Amino acid sequence: MTMPSGPIVIAGAGQAGSLMAMYLARQGHDVTMYESRPDLRRHDIDAGRSINLALATRGIVPLIDVGVIEHVDAITIAMRGRMVHALDDPTPELQPYGRQAHEVIHSVSRTDLNAILLDAAEATGRVTIEFDSQVESVDLDQSLLHFADGRIEPFGLVIGADGAGSRVRKAITDKGAGASETEWLDHSYKELTLPPAADGSHRIDPNALHIWPRGQFMLIALANPNGDFTITLFAPTETFESLTSSDEILAFFDQEFADFAAQVPDLAEQFLDNPTGPLGTLRATGWSYQNKAVIVGDAAHAIVPFHGQGMNAAMESARALDRHMTQNPDDLATAFRNYETDRKPDADAIADMALQNYVEMRSGVLDPRYLAKRELALALEQRHPEHISPRYNMVMFSTMPYAEAQSRAASQSEIIDKAIADPAIDVDALVAALPPLPPLDPLADPDALTNS
Ligand SMILES: Cc1cc2nc3c(=O)[nH]c(=O)nc-3n(C[C@H](O)[C@H](O)[C@H](O)COP(=O)(O)OP(=O)(O)OC[C@H]3O[C@@H](n4cnc5c(N)ncnc54)[C@H](O)[C@@H]3O)c2cc1C
Repeated sequence: MTMPSGPIVIAGAGQAGSLMAMYLARQGHDVTMYESRPDLRRHDIDAGRSINLALATRGIVPLIDVGVIEHVDAITIAMRGRMVHALDDPTPELQPYGRQAHEVIHSVSRTDLNAILLDAAEATGRVTIEFDSQVESVDLDQSLLHFADGRIEPFGLVIGADGAGSRVRKAITDKGAGASETEWLDHSYKELTLPPAADGSHRIDPNALHIWPRGQFMLIALANPNGDFTITLFAPTETFESLTSSDEILAFFDQEFADFAAQVPDLAEQFLDNPTGPLGTLRATGWSYQNKAVIVGDAAHAIVPFHGQGMNAAMESARALDRHMTQNPDDLATAFRNYETDRKPDADAIADMALQNYVEMRSGVLDPRYLAKRELALALEQRHPEHISPRYNMVMFSTMPYAEAQSRAASQSEIIDKAIADPAIDVDALVAALPPLPPLDPLADPDALTNS
């Protein structure tokens, strides 16, 4: 591969950066990765933002590709469906994600996953990681990185895997080669912890993603291997602003989430201590500059977390970037443009679907019409597994491009709406006329994660 002269560097050692480092090492390059934070393997820091994440097929495939899936298997917990905690019903109800054994998502600690990726990147022997190295600005004319501590380092190619606030993206847009916009939601989030029971076990079923849907807001819970759960409250920002005293917080939780509140003795303290985070969708164009700079992951397409896909999409994009670089080794500028042309429609599609899923999670899962549609979709899937799959499953358990999942879901929804409105129509004929679903990526292995 003909590379621009000078070092290949990556800004940011999150999931996208570490994976990209492994791909570049596999392409035969030496790489330096600069990470603004200390080494999370040696310092007790959180890896930034959420504590645990839902890992699904699109993220699993790149992890298989770079050979780390066995290590990841040891740190995941399978979630087989949504456990819905309705306000007026003391017995939660499990809504399975699918009817097939592999239609399962996996709770994984962000810190543990990032540590595995850092170890694996270093184990290639080609990747050097410099921690506490915050890129402040990128000079694309002089090919120099300027660091917050005053250091200056040269580069031939810089890959921006530096998250939603990417300095590499800023450098590209400052050159007039791209534009970006963040659409902020008027909802925010806060993480809390549901501690283990006295004997160390999980207090609620660890093998489900728990949701307490409450219309305008919701609580969700994902299990951690040590017996606790990471709980996230998503709500209008004004709700957070209105909860300023322990009494107000406890009254709110007692009214809305009494079963949860009863199990967390330090709930008000946690609520007051933990930060409230904003939620936004970053839409960017101009993902590269000549053959010198390219962005990947949240740096190019940060999304709201309601489909549990940001990390999965980031890793899928890293794999796509590797594919385009490998296909066009002597013309990286073209490889980078092709990568954007290929991925941008998918990034836009998952951004939209993630926003829509918020409404589905906080209210749809209790709506009889939504449940009837989902029931019919699953029944039709059983009769026509080659032609139809619920949207959630196409996003989470397939590797078809997100944009294709979005347009197929629109066609399917139209058919299902028609069938519900007029039970006399031949819904099976309509479904059978849909184009067949594409095969899974050859690397996708339903048995890759054996955790239970
Ligand atoms: C509440 C919440 C829940 C989520 N849940 C899920 C989920 O269940 N499933 C899922 O798939 N996704 C989820 N996501 C999204 C997911 O966290 C991100 O999409 C994913 O981590 C993006 O990976 P990345 O490597 O592109 O960026 P990041 O993980 O943001 O990594 C960027 C790295 O760059 C470093 N960095 C930043 N700036 C600089 C700089 N100037 N110089 C050097 N280094 C820098 C950062 O310290 C960081 O290590 C969630 C997000 C949130 C907020």
